[in-house]
Amino acid sequence: MKIVIDPGHGGSDSGAVGSGLRESDIVLDVALKAGSKLQKAGVDIIFTRNDDKKVTLEERTSLANAQKADYFVSIHANAGGGTGVETLIYKEGSVAGNLAKIIQEYIVNALGLKDRKVKARPDLWVLRKTNMPAVLIELAFIDNPSDAEVLKNSKDEFANAIAAAILKFIGKGDVEMPKFKDVPDFHWAKDVIEEISDLGIMKGFADGTFKPDEPLSRAQAAVLVKNLIDYLNNKKKKGG
Ligand SMILES: [Zn+2]
Repeated sequence: MKIVIDPGHGGSDSGAVGSGLRESDIVLDVALKAGSKLQKAGVDIIFTRNDDKKVTLEERTSLANAQKADYFVSIHANAGGGTGVETLIYKEGSVAGNLAKIIQEYIVNALGLKDRKVKARPDLWVLRKTNMPAVLIELAFIDNPSDAEVLKNSKDEFANAIAAAILKFIGKGDVEMPKFKDVPDFHWAKDVIEEISDLGIMKGFADGTFKPDEPLSRAQAAVLVKNLIDYLNNKKKKGG
C-alpha cells in the first residue's frame, strides 16, 4: 500500500495567509505528522515535499503517477470567508468519494469544526491529473480567527484524524483515536496508561494531556493509592 501525501504550496508560494499563519507551514506540519503516523502503521508514504520548498502541481501528480501510488491525499487550508472543513474529490460516487467521506467524518468529530461536506471539484489539477483516487482536504479557514486558532493549536489532532481515517479506509482495522494527546502510540507505557485511566485509578488532565514523563508528587501518590483502594473495594463489593 503506497500513499502520496501532498502538503499544498511551499517555498515562495505560501498559499493563503491569515491570522499570522501561512497555509504552506500549517499543511506541511499536519502532512508530516499524519504521514509519520501512517508509516508507523506500515504504510508506504511518499511526500511531495517534506520541507518549505516550491513544488509545481505537475511535479506533484507526475510523482504520484510514476510511483503508481494507490491513493493521493492533498492537504490544504481554506480562505475566502467561511468556516469549517471540507474534502474535495474529482467526482461523486467514486472510490475517492468514500475515502473523502471517512476523512471528513473523522476530522469533524475530532476537531468539532463545521461540516462543509465532500464536494466535487473537477477543475482542480491534483484531482484531475492523478491516475489514482485522490482527495484534497481543506482543513479549516485560515482567514477566520476561530478556525485559525484551531489550525494553529490542533495540528496533532488534524494529523491523527487524517491518519486514523486513512487506516480505517484501507482496512488496517479500527484505529482508535489516542486517549491523551501527549501519549503517542509509540510511548512505551501507552497501554498501561490508558488502562489505568479507563479504570479511574489515575486520570489525565482537563486539557487532554497525561504528562506521562513527569514525576509524581507525594500528594499525587496519595491520591493514586486512595483511588486504587476504592477501585479494589468496589470490585470486591461487586463480587468481581
Ligand atoms: Zn491551498
